[in-house]
Amino acid sequence: MNILEKIKEEGFQFYLSIDCEGPNFDKNLIKNINNMEKFLKLCTLNNIYTILFITPKFAKTLYELNLVDTIKKYKVIFGLHIHPEDLPDKIIEKCPFINPKIELISDYPFEEQKQIILNCIDYLTEHGISPIEAYRGGYFSMNDDTQRVLKNYTNIKWESHNIYRKQYNVTKHLIESIPVYAKSNTYELRLEYFDIETLKDMLINAIKNKDKVVAITHSYLFDENDFHYKRDNIKEPIYFRLQKLIDVIKSLG
Ligand SMILES: [Zn+2]
Repeated sequence: MNILEKIKEEGFQFYLSIDCEGPNFDKNLIKNINNMEKFLKLCTLNNIYTILFITPKFAKTLYELNLVDTIKKYKVIFGLHIHPEDLPDKIIEKCPFINPKIELISDYPFEEQKQIILNCIDYLTEHGISPIEAYRGGYFSMNDDTQRVLKNYTNIKWESHNIYRKQYNVTKHLIESIPVYAKSNTYELRLEYFDIETLKDMLINAIKNKDKVVAITHSYLFDENDFHYKRDNIKEPIYFRLQKLIDVIKSLG
């Protein structure tokens, strides 16, 4: 699906994006991945495309669990997600400059960002994740150097960030931006944020304004028993929350 073409069409559109993290956030990575299909099924049955921003470690586990072909059966678009402090050994060997204390890719200079990004793309591709169409940095980190790498050295045509976050520091847009639906650095359409009524209000406004909406959530919430629910006081599973939004789209969209 060519989202860059589709997004130019008139009217309201809704996409779900998921940061597919890895062991730094997914303490129960296998349990979360094993519940992933359920989420993709819910989106696909309701004609919603899911944009999966995948880290190398997440791709590795997906591949080892033999689930890559399974998820490709659904309406999915693949993107690259990078937390440079949590990369597999195979990439660290090729990028010996990596400092495990640096969490933002934009803290690396151009040439090092290039090495990290190109090695991550190779790694995802080797694990069956292709084509990779989009990019989202961990903590929404991106600067002009990241844009230059993506534009000049990859086939990635667009990126998706919360553009109000200070970690998104782009002055020159070289590739297309399809941002997370947000009105500020914290007020974004994130499935696990706010109560359901607030989320629904955001969506109703977006429908009225004929906005393009890229909602966001995280892989560590696929398992309804994951510790994040209790820790962050998220009362309902993301499935339930998404269903409420789907009901709004069906009645108004
Ligand atoms: Zn992340």
